[in-house]
Amino acid sequence: MEKLIIGSHVSFNKEEGLLGSVKEALNYDSNTFMFYTGAPQNTIRAKIDEKTTKEGQKLMLDKNIDINDVIIHAPYIVNLANNKDENKFDFSINFLKQELKRAEILGIKKVVLHPGSHVGLGKEEGLKNIINALNIILDKKEGPIICLETMAGKGTELGKTFEEIKTIIDGVKNKERLLVCLDTCHLNDAGYDLNDFDRLLDNFDKIIGLNKIGCIHINDSKNEKDAHKDRHENIGFGTIGFENLIKIIYNEKLKEVPKILETPYVSISGGKDRTFPPYKKEIEMIKEKKYNPNLLEDIRDYNKS
Ligand code: FE
Ligand code: FE
Ligand code: ZN
Repeated sequence: MEKLIIGSHVSFNKEEGLLGSVKEALNYDSNTFMFYTGAPQNTIRAKIDEKTTKEGQKLMLDKNIDINDVIIHAPYIVNLANNKDENKFDFSINFLKQELKRAEILGIKKVVLHPGSHVGLGKEEGLKNIINALNIILDKKEGPIICLETMAGKGTELGKTFEEIKTIIDGVKNKERLLVCLDTCHLNDAGYDLNDFDRLLDNFDKIIGLNKIGCIHINDSKNEKDAHKDRHENIGFGTIGFENLIKIIYNEKLKEVPKILETPYVSISGGKDRTFPPYKKEIEMIKEKKYNPNLLEDIRDYNKS
């Protein structure tokens, strides 16, 4: 069988910690996963619990989940590009230092980070701030790796082009601790053509290097190419489409790279009251390589029972 490292975003709660995340991933038939160490929109973090961490690591060993493929996502309110408020900037730097420590305690090697938004300071200034911050955060050669995520270019987001990511990597001293996380929805919304992914990869290889891809977020997009929007869609239900996503997922050059789904939960009534994770069914569809136009209904039926 072809090698496929695939999983999704999962929760990480106070009660079960890493063990709970592993269990959730196994429920989706995943062999990897990604989680926030607390709420994505805030920086309140509980102490990592030793017992559930050990139990989670043991369950991973038993079920053949390689912890090297598991990803932590840093909260998206951390902004290394904005140094207008010195206290906030220092807080972001310190938070990420702590986040890397949490990753180390959990045994996780990769932390995905949104590079940041320049909030009016301008691109050059924003990139300079990110570089300065990363040089403080990554002050040693050893330790977990930060995967800089390619962004959609919403508002003043940086990292929307391979060139901007390359500028950041060039400015950081301990480059061995930096990789890149491609996000298919973000690439599409930033203006890259996912109908010709081989060409996109060649382009990435020339500018940054294929060996720098540490993670891929697999999402369809609600918006047209170049929309600079960043709204994820379920696999096969957006503008990128099932065939293009399958080509990316099964690309020979990326077979060692963990693929993570961040597609939206499906609601039963159409409202936000009852929503269900789509990941089990999406992963099943990806493994079968056959588009299921009734996927969303199937997810609703599966969860009703
Ligand atoms: Fe992200
Ligand atoms: Fe993403
Ligand atoms: Zn996104």
